[in-house]
Amino acid sequence: MPAELPDLQSLWMPFTANRQFKAAPRLLVSAKGMYYTDADGHRVLDGTAGLWCCNAGHGREEIIEAVHAQMRALDYAPPFQMGHPLAFEAAGRLAALMPPGLDRIFFTNSGSESVDTALKIALAYHRARGEGQRTRFIGRERGYHGVGFGGMSVGGIGANRKAYAGNLMPGVDHLPATLNIAQAAFTRGQPAWGAHLADDLERLLALHDPSTVAGVIVEPMAGSAGVIVPPVGYLERLRELCTRHGIPLIFDEVITAFGRLGAATAAQRFGVTPDLLTMAKGVNNATVPMGAVAVSREIHDTIMAAGPGNAIELFHGYTYSGHPAAAAAAVATLDLYEKEGLFARAASLEPAFESAVHGLRGAPHVKDIRNIGMAAAIELEPRAGQPGARAYEAFLACLKAGVLVRFTGDILAFSPPLIIDEEQIGVLFSVVKTALDSVR
Ligand code: PMP
Repeated sequence: MPAELPDLQSLWMPFTANRQFKAAPRLLVSAKGMYYTDADGHRVLDGTAGLWCCNAGHGREEIIEAVHAQMRALDYAPPFQMGHPLAFEAAGRLAALMPPGLDRIFFTNSGSESVDTALKIALAYHRARGEGQRTRFIGRERGYHGVGFGGMSVGGIGANRKAYAGNLMPGVDHLPATLNIAQAAFTRGQPAWGAHLADDLERLLALHDPSTVAGVIVEPMAGSAGVIVPPVGYLERLRELCTRHGIPLIFDEVITAFGRLGAATAAQRFGVTPDLLTMAKGVNNATVPMGAVAVSREIHDTIMAAGPGNAIELFHGYTYSGHPAAAAAAVATLDLYEKEGLFARAASLEPAFESAVHGLRGAPHVKDIRNIGMAAAIELEPRAGQPGARAYEAFLACLKAGVLVRFTGDILAFSPPLIIDEEQIGVLFSVVKTALDSVR
């Protein structure tokens, strides 16, 4: 039964071509397991885990029950100067999943807030140890770090910055992106080419003087820009340079944490440990808005030690930091990940996922295919004079055929829930193949 359409005019949709959407709306009304149901009652295979976030699939009863029970018991508690037990439990559970040493957890409500929180913690850390002149941040071209002024400023996606360019955070510079299709097209997993791009950090540090730099922030795998996988040795080199110059390295793991790369975090997958690690999305299967920053013991303890014992150590926080409903959902989600072994499942599905996506090499317009863990992207040759049109049309064709994929520019991206099976992986990419065949 098609649902009745609501009035579509009042809602200003985020990151959306509103006029185009409202002329032909695409509404999802329910979800279970690997599938959405749209407003016309059609089943849609979720090839994107919502927005890289529903890693345990949809409609998980355990999470629903935990949130219900928590809302009945305690709907809200102030997180400043007061607390509630579940926020502490959720933090402890997260700390246990993080790379060793990153065991102090600050709660936020989104990835954007996690990024801005991490930048502020880096500044507060330097101030606390008498190095307040360290105020500069280094991000990376094509990086996505959310939409706060801090995250937008360290981010490297031109379109997201253009309308606000006069008001970005000062003192930010950017490393070059690591994607180079000419050198590394159709690489499976990490490209062998490109570790030397981390040497640009040395150049930027020399340019600005390392003693002015407060932090370096990168996505270990850039998701939003279209699954840009770090070259072998690249993250190791960033780590080495940051350590040498006393600069906190921040990994933005809003997409990569919670199993996307077959481990709890990308840091663990790549064996490189940052000083701060931002997360959101998969932290509670995206059921209730929540983000977090995992902070090294050293940074946390330095900030805690500054000032007299009765002083507030960090002047930062959100009304909803560690909200009871979000914390309940997080604990239930982490239980599910553990009980169902979903991170290991992602690792074991990676070869099938990889060979399925690379099976599309040779399909019309395909100029690159990239993948790692349960994330992949297909980059298309743009149609002359119509950038982005091919990926958008392929997205529409997939949706019509009952499969949700993501498009950004001329890139299609895939990041299914980690409960997907091999048959569904086959369906996903055979629908994408048919869609590409239909695009002129
Ligand atoms: N950082 C990264 C790496 C992300 O992928 C995202 C969201 N896609 C964000 C930050 C921002 O998260 P949010 O949309 O929850 O603010």
